[in-house]
Amino acid sequence: MSKARTLRLFLVFLLLSTQLFAQKLKKADKAGIAGLQAHIAYLADDKLEGRRAGTKGEELAREYISAQFQQAGLQPKGEGNGWFQSFEINDGKQLGSSTFFFINNHELKVNEEFFPLAGSPNGSLEEAVSIALPEQGVPWFFDLKELLEGNKDNPHFDLVPAIRAKAAKVAEKGANALIIYNSSAIADGLKYDGKDRSEATKIPIVYITDKVRKAHLKDEAATYDLKIRVTIADKKRTGNNVVGYIDNGAGTTVVLGAHYDHLGYGEDNNSMLRTGEHLIHNGADDNASGTAALIELAKLLKVSKSKGNNYLFIAFSGEELGLNGSKYFTEHPSIDLSKVSYMINMDMVGRLNDSSKALTIGGYGTSPFWGATFGKFNPKKLPLTLKYDSSGTGPSDHTSFYRKDIPVLFFFTGLHSDYHRPTDDADKVNYTGEWQIVKLIEEIVASANLQGKLAFTKTREVQTSTSTRFSVSMGIMPDYTFSGAGVRVDGVSDNRPAKKAGIQTGDVIVQLGDFSTTSMESYMQALSKFKKGDKARVKYKRGADTHETEVEF
Ligand SMILES: [Zn+2]
Repeated sequence: MSKARTLRLFLVFLLLSTQLFAQKLKKADKAGIAGLQAHIAYLADDKLEGRRAGTKGEELAREYISAQFQQAGLQPKGEGNGWFQSFEINDGKQLGSSTFFFINNHELKVNEEFFPLAGSPNGSLEEAVSIALPEQGVPWFFDLKELLEGNKDNPHFDLVPAIRAKAAKVAEKGANALIIYNSSAIADGLKYDGKDRSEATKIPIVYITDKVRKAHLKDEAATYDLKIRVTIADKKRTGNNVVGYIDNGAGTTVVLGAHYDHLGYGEDNNSMLRTGEHLIHNGADDNASGTAALIELAKLLKVSKSKGNNYLFIAFSGEELGLNGSKYFTEHPSIDLSKVSYMINMDMVGRLNDSSKALTIGGYGTSPFWGATFGKFNPKKLPLTLKYDSSGTGPSDHTSFYRKDIPVLFFFTGLHSDYHRPTDDADKVNYTGEWQIVKLIEEIVASANLQGKLAFTKTREVQTSTSTRFSVSMGIMPDYTFSGAGVRVDGVSDNRPAKKAGIQTGDVIVQLGDFSTTSMESYMQALSKFKKGDKARVKYKRGADTHETEVEF
């Protein structure tokens, strides 16, 4: 066969194979994109009702994810060698259904006409009382009118601690309960707050509406038969991580993770929808997109040549409540964490902007290997514009692994106007863009294939919460899983007020200025009362001791 003829054949063959390769690549990409579409369509469907942790929607989602893990050829690596790892979510307290209040055998409606204040001890009493006659061993009455009107111009006035102080005083004088009402025109804003983790009061404090007082207790000198029972119980839910494993018999393991829970109907006060409407938050980008990417990466890594590491895939729950699932996993790992080389977290990777192509990669500073790896990428060749953030912490699950001195990478296409709203829907996801991110992660994993355990470097710490409700912050990372009274500090940012005031990880903040901070909510409310330049006394517990310091915002 002539030389010219052989060359021609070779060129044709080359052309064909590249065409075929291109078509094959295209085919694999198409399949991958179709996979992303299928996962997000299912996870963000109204049927899953926003996948709130501990709900039926979460259950449907985790069944789907474990089935996908199984299909991809992963082995279960949850508890009891199953797919799931369950953990308890502390939802504060709730009123027991046996709570009641009778006046002369007339029953009041709980929450509507009466409610005990958080911190009230459980118990029941039956007494004949008159409002005008506070005696030993019976309930006393207290009108909030004076307190409210006396403090109406005081921005630092905090009603609940004042009521608790009153209850402590009358308990000393022999009262066995304090019944409060409000005859003034000033609203008191009181309700039963299950999230309030204040210490228990000595006697129950029960609020009755002024309407009830006028209707059933109008004669202050008369005697009324009261029957009251307070039952307050812990409110708990169970969340479930989904854990799958590729065992390549390697000495080190790479963790890939994404949270799959979302906001449900916004019941946990983490919705950005301020209308109070009861709507499904579908969470297509947050974080059905990351979960879908996790499933597709499982498929890719199962067949990949990168067998220098084992791979652990975790779909976390409880992230929206404060990284509960990832925190639980790092406290109760199903593999030896010291053998984890690094962790990759994907949270909101579905809204790549088609013009900027901007992709934020957090954790860049958590291992020297990252700089070396990304340095090799030719930005011109990449279909993405990479933006790096050195910090190993942030408002998502990689933070839990960074806290265990594990190098992390966090992939994020950015906030948008549908964030934490019912409008975060599947039809707004950029699927091609997301697939490009999946392929980039596959490449990074391949580049670390023979590195063994990556070196870890500590980085600066950034705020974990994305809330914009207050203009100042202390620069602490709260521990959202803490169930005691106060706000436990999980991390302190450099050069921020708390650090400068000497507050450390593990401290429990119990007061800020005049405001007691018994829960995350009361802490955030207290913060919202301060502005830049203000100084405030901070009371905090370190171990059994209570300390005080001053912060400057
Ligand atoms: Zn998220």
